[in-house]
Amino acid sequence: MSEPLALHGGRPVRGAFLPYGRQAVDEDDVQAVLAVLRSDWLTTGPQVAAFERAVAGVVGAAHAVAVSSGTAALHAAMFAAGIGPGDEVVVPALTFAASANAVLYQGGIPVFADVRADTLTVDPADVRAKLTPRTRAIMAVDFAGQPADLDELVAIARGALLPLIEDAAHALGAEYRGRRVGALADLTTFSLHPIKHVTSGEGGLAVTDSAERAARLRRFRNHGIEPARGEEYSPMLDLGYNYRLTDLQSALGLSQLAKLEPFLKRRAEIAQRYRTELATQPGLALPAVLPHVRHGWHIFPVLLDPARLGTDRRTIVAALRAENIGVTVHYVPVYWHPYYQARGYARGSCPRAEWAFERLLTLPLFPAMTERDVDDVLAAVGKVLGHYLR
Ligand SMILES: *Cc1c(COP(=O)(O)O)cnc(C)c1O
Repeated sequence: MSEPLALHGGRPVRGAFLPYGRQAVDEDDVQAVLAVLRSDWLTTGPQVAAFERAVAGVVGAAHAVAVSSGTAALHAAMFAAGIGPGDEVVVPALTFAASANAVLYQGGIPVFADVRADTLTVDPADVRAKLTPRTRAIMAVDFAGQPADLDELVAIARGALLPLIEDAAHALGAEYRGRRVGALADLTTFSLHPIKHVTSGEGGLAVTDSAERAARLRRFRNHGIEPARGEEYSPMLDLGYNYRLTDLQSALGLSQLAKLEPFLKRRAEIAQRYRTELATQPGLALPAVLPHVRHGWHIFPVLLDPARLGTDRRTIVAALRAENIGVTVHYVPVYWHPYYQARGYARGSCPRAEWAFERLLTLPLFPAMTERDVDDVLAAVGKVLGHYLR
């Protein structure tokens, strides 16, 4: 007889709950923030500028603009790309709601494209199929940290004279054919939320090689106001927002950015252990990793096989959480959200994203995880799937 599931009153695999992601903040980070608290600047000051320069250098873009969240970065990118009322933007169906919401903020219309069945990044063929005379931009998302098919997407965007915007919230430090994410699309956005690669508490970045787009991003985060050039006041040219990142946050971001490489290495080590040990686990499949990418491993999604398991994903999630393993789901197709459903988006439009959603499960993955934590996740997955397999 195998151990009874914690869900059924058995002993959980571990005593303390393991979240699916969390920040790694050390004493250097604390000191960096304290130093700013004792300085002349709390908000926009030298730390913001230094952080922006460092990020531009790390990702290989000419300009980086720091804003108050990854969502604000997406909104600013839509503004910088000139998206306005009635403009269509092709967005992957399998992403966080914020990717598509940014289009709505500008009065635009998200048009959802399906994902590849193997990698779960957006399918370039479906992007092409979703273009209309009203399309004004294409958005890619580097799902789980794996860069989307950027060569194909750049070619489609160039051919149609459209900007390519990359939501790289999962992919700071990831690479595509030897080039860093951030150096490939017309505009690339990152998030600095605590579960992302590096954090500033809340925060985001938009990067671009275009000086003109960078100026629009900067204006947008500061009420649409252009810095005064010799006049006695600064003119407001556009309806912008207060999307500024503070010096306090930037100091934390800068201190964290110095540790990006060890963070990426540790994430990749954990992912490699999972991939090796789960390769032979019945009832579960792993999304493909393409040979020409450096995966950022923001999250570790697996695909359950409901037919082999004789139960649905909901039960597996409940059973693993009862074992104190903080699994979650990334993502419900954006247009399945009630807000989108109420606005006429029909289910069935992106069948591969919907197929994946029914099966997706995200296992814990963050740099501070110990080998023991990884052992616990693998033991719990084996225990729970073993119970339901038929
Ligand atoms: C985290 C995330 C965002 C939003 O970032 P915030 O900093 O939380 O606003 C946008 N898109 C994707 C794909 C994300 O994972």
